[in-house]
Amino acid sequence: KTADIGVVGLGTMGSNLALNIAEKGFTVAVHNRTSAKSFALRDDNPGIGDNVVPAASLEDFVASLKQPRLVLFMVPAGKIVDDEMAEIAPLLSPGDVMIDAGNADFHDTVRRSKAVEETGLQFVGMGVSGGELGARHGPSIMVGGAEATYGLLSPILTRIAAQYEGEPCVAWLGPDGAGHFVKTIHNGIEYADMQMIAEIYGIMRDGIGLEPKAMAEIFADWNTRGLSSYLIEITAVTLAETDPETGRPMVDVIVDEAGQKGTGRWAVIEAQKLGVGATTIEAAVSARGVSSRRAERADAGALYVDIATEAGGFAGDAASLTELEEALETAKIIAYAQGYATMAAASDEFSWNLPLAEIARIWRAGCIIRSRFLDDIARAYDSGETVVNLLQAKDFVTRVSAGQGALRRVVAKASLAGIPVPALSAALAYLDDYRRKRGTTDLTQAQRDLFGAHTFHRLDKDGVFHHQWPAV
Ligand code: NDP
Repeated sequence: KTADIGVVGLGTMGSNLALNIAEKGFTVAVHNRTSAKSFALRDDNPGIGDNVVPAASLEDFVASLKQPRLVLFMVPAGKIVDDEMAEIAPLLSPGDVMIDAGNADFHDTVRRSKAVEETGLQFVGMGVSGGELGARHGPSIMVGGAEATYGLLSPILTRIAAQYEGEPCVAWLGPDGAGHFVKTIHNGIEYADMQMIAEIYGIMRDGIGLEPKAMAEIFADWNTRGLSSYLIEITAVTLAETDPETGRPMVDVIVDEAGQKGTGRWAVIEAQKLGVGATTIEAAVSARGVSSRRAERADAGALYVDIATEAGGFAGDAASLTELEEALETAKIIAYAQGYATMAAASDEFSWNLPLAEIARIWRAGCIIRSRFLDDIARAYDSGETVVNLLQAKDFVTRVSAGQGALRRVVAKASLAGIPVPALSAALAYLDDYRRKRGTTDLTQAQRDLFGAHTFHRLDKDGVFHHQWPAV
């Protein structure tokens, strides 16, 4: 049997993606360094397995593929991708396509594209979101590479992607690194979204004294309105869960140290390089870092006892809960605006012409940040108005104006009570900084000119100026 596509790497994502492809009626060749996994994938999945072609060697794997061959890698990012590609490349023919579908740093994707295309092969860098279940039943897929190469993949990708009201959540987003860059920002937004939800959970727990099961009901209720999203849905599910061993709420027995694999950090680094303030993402990445220093936090906690000036005044009544809901919704808009501003800046910097409305559309299903809210973002970019930043789009101006009072009160109360809200407060600070006509960096420029003759511009004259400051 000749295969339509080959998958290398049958871990969590690769095996599920291969089954998804097979289930949609395509024949998929599979290869794994431990080849027993390839045969098990065929044998353990009756029915679907008929479309799986396991290969014991790379030579067999390559020989089983239709030409031009499509070889999709789903292995851990970094050197392993380079090693796997180097091993297979000599067995391929001009025009064949190598696809890195893992979470790559987009700089690596740009480098690999160039190197691969010089050899006559084609390269695609493709972000896949949705975790294990997404890979199996429909992920959101962000593709970067030559548009014509995408044409070779699209018959398969449009079938295996998540479908949102009949539209597949996959798109060609631009050349070389565009797909992996967008996936990186997706993950950055995911970090910010999760951190802000965790901060609201912290207020509910430490400011109001709610039990996880009561919180679960509140989040489930919020999931019926504006905040409706996969992340709010799973927040309710996780908070409602009981530990079978102790009978206590599951969250109460989980250690408060967050892991991370680096995509949030990549997003922050790229935003910084592009001169965009993605401060909510930065706050989320930092918060995970601080969380991992658990023993150190306990020591610091012993040094700063009762430092909070007030209880904060959080209450569990309906009005207070609505205030939390509005604050989270407003901060979420600001976090997404920062993620989108980063993509817009990258699009200019790398001449990618990223389709920002389309990106919102392919995130509506399949991926971790999926939500109906993304429809509003797509509408803003589709509306015909020039959107410099989502915080200047009409609909969002209205919503942020209405919700900023709640965000201010929540951040203020949390600060007085000593409850950390780094991402919510970063969102508020960004809003205030972004909307301020007269900033404070006139002073920064004066200082820079004093100590380094870095010069400055004047409000009343064109040109570049240096002042003779008093000697200090
Ligand atoms: P796993 O760890 O589950 O699987 C990794 C696969 O790569 C396995 O098939 C493994 O082979 C193979 N592999 C590992 N090391 C080597 C090596 N040195 N040489 C050759 N093959 C190797 O990873 P995931 O499936 O979770 O992740 C794959 C990619 O997808 C990563 O880039 C990840 O960031 C990305 N991703 C993961 C998501 C998730 O939710 N897990 C979501 C979205 C993207 P073996 O079976 O022999 O160990």
